[in-house]
Amino acid sequence: MFDKILIANRGEIALRVIRACREMGIRSVAVHSTADADAMHVRMADESVCIGPPPSPDSYLSIPSIISACEITGAQAIHPGYGFLSENARFVQIVEDHGLTFIGPSAEHIRMMGDKITAKETMKALGVPCVPGSEGGVPDVETARKLAADMGYPVIVKATAGGGGRGMKLARGPEDLERAFQTARAEAKAAFGNDEVYIEKYLQKPRHIEIQVFGDGQGRAVHLGERDCSLQRRHQKVLEEAPGPVIDAETRARIGKVCADAVARINYRGAGTIEFLYEDGEFYFIEMNTRLQVEHPVTEAIFGVDLVREQIRVAEGRPLSFDQDDLVLNGHAIEVRINAERLPNFAPCPGRITAYHAPGGLGVRMDSALYDGYSIPPYYDSLIGKLIVHGRDRGEALARLDRALGELIVDGIETTAPLFSALLLEPDIQRGDYNIHWLERWLEAGPEL
Ligand code: ADP
Repeated sequence: MFDKILIANRGEIALRVIRACREMGIRSVAVHSTADADAMHVRMADESVCIGPPPSPDSYLSIPSIISACEITGAQAIHPGYGFLSENARFVQIVEDHGLTFIGPSAEHIRMMGDKITAKETMKALGVPCVPGSEGGVPDVETARKLAADMGYPVIVKATAGGGGRGMKLARGPEDLERAFQTARAEAKAAFGNDEVYIEKYLQKPRHIEIQVFGDGQGRAVHLGERDCSLQRRHQKVLEEAPGPVIDAETRARIGKVCADAVARINYRGAGTIEFLYEDGEFYFIEMNTRLQVEHPVTEAIFGVDLVREQIRVAEGRPLSFDQDDLVLNGHAIEVRINAERLPNFAPCPGRITAYHAPGGLGVRMDSALYDGYSIPPYYDSLIGKLIVHGRDRGEALARLDRALGELIVDGIETTAPLFSALLLEPDIQRGDYNIHWLERWLEAGPEL
């Protein structure tokens, strides 16, 4: 069992992990850049180590500094949170070579799922339904042209090494293909240093439905249902809910079992998310994230489990604390991402918080590292808080979200909170009738924000 865990992250997710450690009687070590010396995760951890200057490559992404911080403090394990080093197979390898434990899957599984072509081939072989597309990488425009003609337009050209919505280009018809192919390639080369691309049928109006899975690394795995994350701007999620408004119990059980069986068969360890596009009642695998997701709290709310605690338990080599039959879905949960951004253009808006009041009450959870007087540094992601509400049903969750947004005070900077108050007035949102394009179209229409 671990006595001490180092958290290689910052912000709300670092607090999230520190809280789980404290409940488990494990000491926590925060790491921070010089820009984060006054950050809440540093104040809340049992110990802290400064690992470098503000730019993330020199601090939160600096593998030698993080390993040294473990050695100095005697931490036995590292929780990576999400982002930063959480899906870096080389980091996992180095951690293990130093006799430390990485709280997450094996380097091999991270590598397998980080390469989207390998991920797709693996999932297909495990019986997971995939988006129709090329078998493997597409070497040149001529091949792409032939495949696209067979598949039928529109098609999407995607980077094998892709992530964060980069290296992805749509071709509506043959006239777009060459440009889409070359741009995706160039973007992939610049962003990931790997210009391999593949093509997929472009689905017109799918929902983004993802399945939470959890494996013990010893051949046993469960699923914790789905999250609907279709409300996206520039391929970034802004609101997530569970259960999905259009997924019934039978569908959930069926796709959940396919996913749990797939990860059990590869002996997957820890939390994972299998992402699908969902259209006309069919699921199409797009990728697997081998880490805790930003939106994990909606799943925690409806199943009443602590996913970080389970991550730590399986990293210690212990079994999961629940079986599939123990997981009973209760009610409905919604998460909204509060970013330090100015509407309507979502321009980053760091600065000093002059007043902060978090909403509370029944069914309300605010995961945030903000406090009165805190200065949000300009160097990192603009996510400053996640407001999660839980109700007996979707209607109650929506009403609770409206009420909680009314209580939230973040003064001194602008945030995306008003976006959600406006969304709650929309009949489509009230009915749960939206797909992955809904938000962009709504924003293009220029709503009052
Ligand atoms: P990334 O790893 O860069 O986030 P994903 O493969 O997860 O890339 O895709 C991100 C988003 O792009 C999806 O949520 C969806 O909105 C869109 N997308 C990806 N593939 C397709 C497709 N075949 N058809 C339609 N939309 C797609």
